Amino acid sequence: MQLVFATNNSNKLKEVQALIPAHIKLLSLKDIDCFEDIPETQNTIEGNAIQKAEYVKQHYGYDCFADDTGLEVDILNGEPGVFSARYAGEQRNADDNMNKLLTKLNHKNNRNAQFKTVIALQLNNKQYTFTGICKGEITTTKHGEKGFGYDPIFKPKDYDVTFSEMDLSLKNSIGHRGKAIFKLIQFLNS
Ligand code: IMP
Repeated sequence: MQLVFATNNSNKLKEVQALIPAHIKLLSLKDIDCFEDIPETQNTIEGNAIQKAEYVKQHYGYDCFADDTGLEVDILNGEPGVFSARYAGEQRNADDNMNKLLTKLNHKNNRNAQFKTVIALQLNNKQYTFTGICKGEITTTKHGEKGFGYDPIFKPKDYDVTFSEMDLSLKNSIGHRGKAIFKLIQFLNS
């Protein structure tokens, strides 16, 4: 089986490639000569995932899956959510985004948050979605070097370290994207 993973994020591609069974050939957007910015104009995480998967199917003809992820902070009513990538502005800078969030949570005791990933799959002209959630809390300062995005300030529940201080294999096994991918793989194998 050949499937496009609609992402330009090499970190994500690496994460997912490690989880996908060998009989599924994963193609990147580069592999199908897609170098354009795929529209993500919906106002929900799920809507954006569906929009991206549909776009690739419509414009390039490949069966495809796309993911969209957001960090939802309880005390901020789910912010930054669908705006996670550009929380501090269109420059989409991870440090700026983390600094903005840390400032907003300054002196706040309730630091509960969750990462939510939705994967939309376009397969044989049908559409499916798979959701993965990882609960945790926002630390007061940045810790660790690994990963990307908000990883240095997100400490998953039941762990004493942030995602940035974990090996990728551990992050994958407990993380939002890993859980959504696991559901996708179970579906593809069934
Ligand atoms: P995307 O929809 O998967 O591109 O994610 C949107 C934004 O959420 C990214 O730009 C990152 O800031 C953040 N994000 C997504 N996944 C992760 C993750 O696994 N760790 C930390 N931040 C993430």
